[in-house]
Amino acid sequence: MRRLRWAMIGGGRGSLIGDSHRIAARIDARWELVAGAFDIDPERGRAFGVALGLDPARAYGDWRQMMAAEAAREDRPDLVAIVTPNASHFEIARAALEAGFHLLCEKPLTTSIGQARELVALAKARQRIGAVMYGYSGYPLVRQMRAMVAAGEIGQVRVVQAEFAHGGHAGPVELTVPALAWRYDPAIVGPSSVLADAGSHALHMACYVAGQNITNVSAMFASHGSGRRLEDDAHLHLRFSGDAIGSLWSSAVAVGQLHGLRLRVFGERGGLDWRQEDPDRLRFAPLGEPPRTLERAAPYLHADALRDARITAGHAEGYFEAWANIYRELAQAIAEPGSTQHLYPDLEAGAHGVAVIAAAVASAGAAGRWVEVTSP
Ligand code: NAD
Repeated sequence: MRRLRWAMIGGGRGSLIGDSHRIAARIDARWELVAGAFDIDPERGRAFGVALGLDPARAYGDWRQMMAAEAAREDRPDLVAIVTPNASHFEIARAALEAGFHLLCEKPLTTSIGQARELVALAKARQRIGAVMYGYSGYPLVRQMRAMVAAGEIGQVRVVQAEFAHGGHAGPVELTVPALAWRYDPAIVGPSSVLADAGSHALHMACYVAGQNITNVSAMFASHGSGRRLEDDAHLHLRFSGDAIGSLWSSAVAVGQLHGLRLRVFGERGGLDWRQEDPDRLRFAPLGEPPRTLERAAPYLHADALRDARITAGHAEGYFEAWANIYRELAQAIAEPGSTQHLYPDLEAGAHGVAVIAAAVASAGAAGRWVEVTSP
């Protein structure tokens, strides 16, 4: 298989998440970064591209210039990754799909459900692959949970408890850290802050593992930090398409919690519990039996979990490898269409996330009234 080419928009020097994409894409040597418009500041963006080793002619100061010039090349990128703040995703993603590139977009896919629907339809019409970087779904043991639920090993799922509650914004960090200032600006993040930022990952994992979408939401939002225009703490009750019920707690003010991503799923015959801060272990409690710990890379795991393990059990694997699994699957899906069942989060999953966020915002604004989630 030839190495695929990719370009990046956003993710410039000092950004929070740009390096994660670049490191993940390098791990399996299936991607070559060939172009980029990395920064809102054109000069800084060009200089950064050159520092990354790009051909200076392909280190752009503006994403529109990049899209036009790169679309015309014979050795054009196969994929464009969008790593800019939320409200810019839609316009850039639409332009990328219209120019015929495959797409990997940061979450949340867009800031409105109409935009998300438009991207899903456009990718379909242009036969382009679209993915959303819900990177945590690339962890082998998250895939193990998904496979166990799908194989009926815990029976019908009854309860899903999802949590992504960190304490990073317990103080007024947005006043001193420029990259955090936009997290509470609705013009840049859209109608939700912590739910769209952190909670969207946990919502995706809940649906991905349970194999059910969210149909109804009742939400309570709080803004504990003074002067914040959007929520820094969100509590959701959830109903799922397969009759499961559950809840999500997403917070930026959970003092003492570092990352705080956890998913618990309880079925008729067993319970599963996974924490991202201890990602190589999955607690499985079968009904009436002692609970046990499943280890990453152990031979008794499902194929979907084993395929992604790069190193034998006992060595730590983690965040970058999980992201790399998504880059690897995208490479395979693009180079060998139809070759595997895809496990990467697709645009439909991204659109569902946007729809759940919209429903939660509406519910929180109406004293927690139950709101139906619009189907993407
Ligand atoms: P950041 O503010 O740290 O960095 C944003 C980068 O994009 C900067 O380099 C900035 O100069 C550049 N940029 C902004 N507008 C641009 C434009 N029009 N053209 C080119 N470059 C532009 O933000 P971040 O934390 O890296 O977040 C970026 C996106 O990634 C957000 O949508 C965020 O929700 C998402 N994110 C995802 C994860 C994850 O786990 N998947 C984690 C953090 C952030």
